[in-house]
Amino acid sequence: MTTDPSCLFCKIVAGELPSTLVHEDERTVAFRDLHPAAPTHVLVVPRDHHADLAAVSAADPGLVADLVAAAVEVARKEGLDGGHRLVVNTGADGGQTVFHVHLHVLGGGPITGLAG
Ligand code: 5GP
Ligand code: ZN
Repeated sequence: MTTDPSCLFCKIVAGELPSTLVHEDERTVAFRDLHPAAPTHVLVVPRDHHADLAAVSAADPGLVADLVAAAVEVARKEGLDGGHRLVVNTGADGGQTVFHVHLHVLGGGPITGLAG
């Protein structure tokens, strides 16, 4: 288990900080975003600490598949029958602010904006 004691999402995974859990499995945890950008906005994170998509892809490519599968399961559980959007902000230019890789699952209505 790789963790970073100073990482916000490692603390959420460990239950040291509160969150609203939506889904969890052996390798991933999903919880609601504190500042939702859509009616449904869930973050899917690995239990292990990896800073970003490049890091997790290099260290543990199977975990990338697990994260995507968990996001699909979140969309199903949340009833996003009309569709949803997966977003992975990567690095400063990509708008990443928390450096523990995470997938945003956005839905619950039409998602507009960049790449829309
Ligand atoms: P990023 O900008 O790195 O792609 O996404 C980070 C996300 O984490 C943002 O959407 C932000 O609202 C969310 N966030 C930041 N701090 C917390 C927190 O303490 N709890 C939860 N649940 N979400 C947070
Ligand atoms: Zn972390």
